[in-house]
Amino acid sequence: MSIDLDFDRDHLWHPYTSTSKPLPTYPVARADGVRLELEDGRTLIDGMSSWWAAIHGYNHPRLNQAAKDQIDKMAHVMFGGITHEPAVELGKRLVRMTPEPLNKVFLADSGSVSVEVAIKMALQYWLSQGQPEKHRLIALRNGYHGDTFGAMATCDPVNGMHHLFSKVLPKHLFADAPAVGYHDDWDERDLDSLRGLLEQHGHEVAAVILEPIVQGAGGMRFYHPEYLRGARRLCDEHGVLLIFDEIATGFGRSGELFAMDHAGVCPDILCLGKALTGGYMTLAATLCNDRVAAGICDGEAGVLMHGPTFMGNPLACAVANASIDELLENDWRGRVTAIQSQLRRELEPLRGASGVADVRALGAIGVLELEEPCDVAATQKLLVEQGVWIRPFGKLVYIMPPYGMEPDDLSQLTRAMAAVAEL
Ligand SMILES: *Cc1c(COP(=O)(O)O)cnc(C)c1O
Repeated sequence: MSIDLDFDRDHLWHPYTSTSKPLPTYPVARADGVRLELEDGRTLIDGMSSWWAAIHGYNHPRLNQAAKDQIDKMAHVMFGGITHEPAVELGKRLVRMTPEPLNKVFLADSGSVSVEVAIKMALQYWLSQGQPEKHRLIALRNGYHGDTFGAMATCDPVNGMHHLFSKVLPKHLFADAPAVGYHDDWDERDLDSLRGLLEQHGHEVAAVILEPIVQGAGGMRFYHPEYLRGARRLCDEHGVLLIFDEIATGFGRSGELFAMDHAGVCPDILCLGKALTGGYMTLAATLCNDRVAAGICDGEAGVLMHGPTFMGNPLACAVANASIDELLENDWRGRVTAIQSQLRRELEPLRGASGVADVRALGAIGVLELEEPCDVAATQKLLVEQGVWIRPFGKLVYIMPPYGMEPDDLSQLTRAMAAVAEL
């Protein structure tokens, strides 16, 4: 039986789509390794890792086995008043692999929810310190932190379309996006905007939230590690918590295990998601240090006011444990570094081509930035004809392939990017 594309078009929402002017969707029948197989038998090399998540590729024997073993024990059980081995083991791994102060783990259902939890932690912390006036957040322009209301309020105010929801969104403060690139010479003035906001508003600010080193969905920009060290210093000076959103960058993607490791900086609260289960299931985590946890629990509420139904889902935790072991036991750094070198080598010739604004690569992330937004449907079609799955986004044609990708397959991805540049 073939996939009913008419029903799909008439009844299903896809991410950020219109039901009155639907764009084509491509029916995928199965996925294996770094390839998606379309229903008509064509295979596409996967440049997206299903939005940063499938770092080991698809249909992975070890992750499959973990899911099968766990499903025969229990697919799910509530987390209120109950615990289980997959959650405890995942907690151990996350505490061990993140910087030492991050000691308490909240298992959330998705990246956006982990951001909601992070914001709630920061707000509850200041309430319990007897400083309810510290209720605002500072975020960065070009940032992206998710689609739920709390998270959306911290996304770039223009890209995030805050005007649509202006009556219900809390009004936060936005610092200029870091302008000094990862490889540029550091310029202390890059912190002026953040410093200015903290000097003026620090007394009413609960936390600064940002994506370390890589601003993802808001522009795929790589900024200087010194910015993070400065942000940490400024937050400490002004008595403001620091939240890092590593939902996209976590688990090796930027060339370090976590992007914050480029700067050796530790936040008070950390959000993880996307690659946590190797792309198998939705699961995220919010970690915090002992000071934040104790502050929350010493307050009026006495507890962290959050507890989703599917919190700590055993199936997702079991796959996450297998995914983390698979990552750490193989040479993720070597693989990601090799991808970085190849991306730089093969994308660099596109620099200066007409219509190309920039090319850049960091870790296993390669970006072609065009001067004008591309026609998504037409570009998508061309890319599929080139045998690759790359999802263009505005002016950006970018890839973040699974870490085990062979050089020949990666070359096919970069050749397809070159074909878009030549359009
Ligand atoms: C994807 C993403 C989110 C949201 O995660 P969802 O699982 O889509 O809710 C938040 N922050 C960053 C940096 C992301 O890349």
